[in-house]
Amino acid sequence: MTMTHDAPRALDSDLVVDGAQLIGGDWVPAASGETIDVINPATRDVLARIPRSGSDDVEHAVQAAEEALPAWRDLDATSRGRLLFRWADLIEQRADEIDEIERREVGRPSWGPLGVPGQIRFIAGQADKVQGVSLPTYSPEHLGFTLREPYGVVGGIIPWNAPGPMFAVEVGAAIAAGNTMVMKPAEDAPLTPLALAKLALEAGIPAGVINVVTGYGHEAGAAIPAHPRIRRMGFTGSPQTGSLIMEACAKNLTPLHLELGGKSPQVVFGDADLDAAVPAMAMGITLNTGQICAAGSRVVVLRSIHDELVDRLAAQMETITYGPWHQQVNMGPLINEKQHRRVLDYIGVGRDAGADLVTGGAVPTGAGLEDGFFVQPTLFDKVDPDMRIAREEIFGPVLSVIPVDDEEEAVRVANGTDYGLVASVWTRDVGTAVRMSRRLEAGQVGINSPLGAGVIGGPFGGYKNSGFGRTMGADSVLDWTQVKTVSMRDAVAVGR
Ligand code: NAP
Ligand code: MG
Repeated sequence: MTMTHDAPRALDSDLVVDGAQLIGGDWVPAASGETIDVINPATRDVLARIPRSGSDDVEHAVQAAEEALPAWRDLDATSRGRLLFRWADLIEQRADEIDEIERREVGRPSWGPLGVPGQIRFIAGQADKVQGVSLPTYSPEHLGFTLREPYGVVGGIIPWNAPGPMFAVEVGAAIAAGNTMVMKPAEDAPLTPLALAKLALEAGIPAGVINVVTGYGHEAGAAIPAHPRIRRMGFTGSPQTGSLIMEACAKNLTPLHLELGGKSPQVVFGDADLDAAVPAMAMGITLNTGQICAAGSRVVVLRSIHDELVDRLAAQMETITYGPWHQQVNMGPLINEKQHRRVLDYIGVGRDAGADLVTGGAVPTGAGLEDGFFVQPTLFDKVDPDMRIAREEIFGPVLSVIPVDDEEEAVRVANGTDYGLVASVWTRDVGTAVRMSRRLEAGQVGINSPLGAGVIGGPFGGYKNSGFGRTMGADSVLDWTQVKTVSMRDAVAVGR
């Protein structure tokens, strides 16, 4: 179903600086002088250009971050927190503008109030709660304690699917701990991160604390973990790239955390409340056009309820509206041509493997859809757990239903992929909920609650190939610190 076609306004915001990136507080081009067009994936309109940076620009940014480090590290933690709170306030004041920039570059419709100010405030509140411990000693002449110190200049790389939140969470935690950072956003969605970095400067976070270097992953991106003076890395993206980042970090013995993909199961028991489960599952696979690491892309359903569930899911998915970002729809296009091809290829793979295509599966046509990378919400039934569509992350609005006989088989299938990001369970039975919470291999388990939603400050991250390390929780700031043990002796007393 599509909505009426009307033309949007041109992008007009002083938060978008055409052709420039932020290094040491200055808006600068790439050393190469080259740029990359950032397009709106619904219309292919060019929104702005970004510098195509490489290792020279990363070196420049590392130097800027090194210059900013001593003053930022030594600023008292309460003042650092206060600057982050001010940053959140400025973002909130211009929330509609930030949201519009993100909606245009990602191609998504409005999701309501912007979450980024709240995410930054949660982190800001942690800044002055980074504490060491006092240690017992062998004699009264000794004192012992630990200090939590920042690493120094750290690096980050984030994907395009939710550039605002990814940037806020990774940069916020790193700088709250007193590090300075070189961050590379994805070339498909760098404008929201650049806009947020601009507001950080306006909030008084000093020049060089946040440096945003733009460009391609294999150029600007690869230069960050390869840089020997980057002391810690955070990476969010695909397992394939994550593995490359880890290799580069291994060469420099740089610690890191990885937030990778998922193939998250939604386990539906016979006693599930389908009135709640069906809309949540349809939303979970179509929100951001399925381009969410936590998307519940496999429905593992007990046979007793299978037929009813599939009928209702198909009907629900057919109500999902799609169109360009400025319309009031549920779903936008995919991010780019490559992703479009990839999702359509996977739909072909599912068909060829013999899965039942229940609804969707095609590129929709109609007014306003001509230029975008649109694909219909797609439901496959009778999917075998060994099929590629059941094992590999598609990163599109494609949902696979896998029928199972009992709880044992449900657990085996749910845990039967290389991933372990999120798992959801739909049941009214407390015993089932307790057992499943323990048995599912995932960093987040939701009982009657998809996408790990509904809690504040929940640590977020993966089991197995979905990565390691946790962001977003109270410990996320601690992750960007290293521990120093200090022992002191009263030499005067001992010498006497
Ligand atoms: P990707 O290809 O791995 O890209 C992620 C980031 O890495 C981008 O900034 C990319 O830059 C950069 N990059 C690519 N190749 C690189 C290299 N050789 N060296 C250094 N950096 C490099 O992932 P994607 O396909 O864009 O994003 C989707 C993936 O991210 C999915 O697997 C999804 O599940 C995962 N994800 C995980 C989470 C989580 O929190 N667990 C959240 C969101 C997404 P360019 O794009 O500019 O080339
Ligand atoms: Mg890309």
